[in-house]
Amino acid sequence: MKKIVEVGEIPKIYLHHLSDPEMSKIYYFWGNVHYRLQTRFVNGSCIALIPGKGCALNDSRPLICKVWPFWWISGSKPSADNFPLEINGDCTMATCWNMTEDEILKEFGTSKDTIRKLLLALNRALNEHGEMLKEAAKRNIPPEKLLDWILKKILQNPLESTFNKLFIS
Ligand code: SF4
Repeated sequence: MKKIVEVGEIPKIYLHHLSDPEMSKIYYFWGNVHYRLQTRFVNGSCIALIPGKGCALNDSRPLICKVWPFWWISGSKPSADNFPLEINGDCTMATCWNMTEDEILKEFGTSKDTIRKLLLALNRALNEHGEMLKEAAKRNIPPEKLLDWILKKILQNPLESTFNKLFIS
């Protein structure tokens, strides 16, 4: 896990997430800086991205990668029902190539039902991850020790942890 996950400073392009209550909970505030757990970056790219081949993690890639570019409608919550999906505004297929939701689903070889199940799991993982970070802050765990602290917690309760689902499914 530690070979591919690190605690890094939130990149400037994601700073707008701090105003989003769903995403802000997974950032760790320490010494006036926001940190996040993420796959390692090498030369500006995710370490799992193999040039010319794509993601080395395949089906084990993080949930947040599996659901891209879909999300639940802003202001709503994923539920057991057939909740509506929206497409992230940064998606090139939707914004530049004008592909429809169905065309994008087909391109990824997936379905709305599958995406909804993954989004439900992701929502739960985001909440539990946020709770874990709150506890770390209460215990004054510095960012450089955060990953070790989280991994230790997971090893104590492996079945209860959603960390694997959030970063590596
Ligand atoms: S799909 Fe996710 S884990 Fe895989 S290379 Fe892209 S960002 Fe990295």
